[in-house]
Amino acid sequence: MRRGRLAGAASTLLGLLALAAASAVAEVAPETTLLRFSAIIDGTGERLPGREMVVAEGRIAAIGEALDQRYPAATRIDLGDLTAVPGLIDAHLHITYGFCRPSSGDAWRQLLQETPAAERLLAAIDNAARTLETGVTSARDLMALDGVDFQLRELIERGVVPGPRLFLGGTGIHPLVMPPGAAGSTAERVASLGQRAHEVADRGAQWLKIFATTGTGSDLSGTRNYEFPEIEAAVAAAHSRGLRVALHAYGPSVVPDAIRAGVDSIEHAVDVDEPTLRDWAAAGIFYVPTIDHNRWYAEHRGEFGYSGDDEARLRAFLPRNMEMLGRAWRAGVPIAMGSDAVLGMFGENTRELEWFVAAGLTPAAALRAATADAARLLGEQERLGRIAPGFAADIIAIAGDPLADIRAVTRRVRWVMKGGEVVVDRRSTGTPRPARYCP
Ligand SMILES: [Zn+2]
Repeated sequence: MRRGRLAGAASTLLGLLALAAASAVAEVAPETTLLRFSAIIDGTGERLPGREMVVAEGRIAAIGEALDQRYPAATRIDLGDLTAVPGLIDAHLHITYGFCRPSSGDAWRQLLQETPAAERLLAAIDNAARTLETGVTSARDLMALDGVDFQLRELIERGVVPGPRLFLGGTGIHPLVMPPGAAGSTAERVASLGQRAHEVADRGAQWLKIFATTGTGSDLSGTRNYEFPEIEAAVAAAHSRGLRVALHAYGPSVVPDAIRAGVDSIEHAVDVDEPTLRDWAAAGIFYVPTIDHNRWYAEHRGEFGYSGDDEARLRAFLPRNMEMLGRAWRAGVPIAMGSDAVLGMFGENTRELEWFVAAGLTPAAALRAATADAARLLGEQERLGRIAPGFAADIIAIAGDPLADIRAVTRRVRWVMKGGEVVVDRRSTGTPRPARYCP
C-alpha cells in the first residue's frame, strides 16, 4: 500500500516535471525584438550607420537597416523619434543610503544611527528604481553597511525588484570601521587593512574602497587617514583576490601614494599638480570626479543641518573640482562618471555629465565616460557600455541629439531596456514612476 502510494506520487511528480520541461522549452524559445530609432550612437561616441537593432536572448544580435527581412518573426518596438545610446553606468554611488521618513534635519545621524537595515533596504529598492529611470543600467556602489547592498543585488538579479546591475564594494576601509592610527604597531595596522580586503572579497564584492582621506558631505577636508604601507597592503591583498580598488581622496596629498600602490580608480581628488597628473595618466588609473553631489548637498543643506557657510564652501568647491577634471582630461587621465548619490539624489545620477561638458569635455567624451570608458573601469568592456553585436542589450532611448546637447542624456531619458527587457517606458506621460516603498 505504502509502496503503491509512493509510486503514484512519483509518477505524478514525473508528469509534473515533464509538464514543467515542456513549458520551460516554450519559455526559452528565443524572444527576438526589433527596435527602430531615429539614430543610434555607440558608447564610443560614434553615430552608427543603421537605425534598427535586433535584440535576442538579452543581447544585441544585429544593427543595421531593413532588419525585418532577416528577422521576420521579431516583435517590433518603434522608437522612431528617439535616439539610442548604451545604458549608462554610474561609477560611484551609495544606493543603500536612504530612509523612509522625512528628514530629521540631521540626515547623516538619522541614516547611521536611527534607521534599521530593513528600512534602508526598502529605501535602496526605491533608489534602484529611480536610478534605472535616469537611464543608469549598471552602477558601482562604493560603501554600504550591514550587507544591505548584497541583499539588494540579489533581489535585482533574481528579478524581484527592478534596478541596475550592481558592482559592489561592501563595507570598505573607512574610519568608522578601521580607525586611522589605531593602537598597535605599524605592522599590525598593515595586517588589519590587508585582512579587511580579504573579508570584502569573501563577502562577494568586486571592489575594495579605501577612504584614504577625510572629506564627505559638508566636510571638504582632505586629511590623510592611512599611511602608504597600509594602502599598499590593502591594494595588494585586494588584487590577489581579484578585487579592483577605488581610493577616496579629497585633497591632493595622498594621490602620489595611490598611484604608487596601483589603485584602479581615484575618487573626488582636486588640486593635483601637473607632474602627478602625468604619472596618473601614465598609470592608466581612472578619475571619478563626483562634482555634482556637492551641488546637491548645497541645495539640500536643510536636510543635513549644514550652515549657510557650509553651503558657500560646497558651492566654492564646484569650480575647483571642474578645473581638476579639465586638466585631468587634457592630461589623458581616463574619466568615468560617478554621481556619489546618497539619500534623495537618486534620479539625478547623471547630472554630473553637464559639469563634464562645462569643464571642457566634448559631449561625445562625456557620453564615453558614462558608457564605454566606465565599462572599462568595471572590467566589463566586452559586455557593457557599447551598442555592438554580442553586447548586453542595455539600451536607452532619449529625446534629442546627445552629441549636440548632453542634456538629451541627463534630462530626457524616455525608455530603458536592460538585458533585453523593457524596464522603463515614459513615452506617454514623461513623468517618473512614483516610489513604491518609501513615500
Ligand atoms: Zn562616495
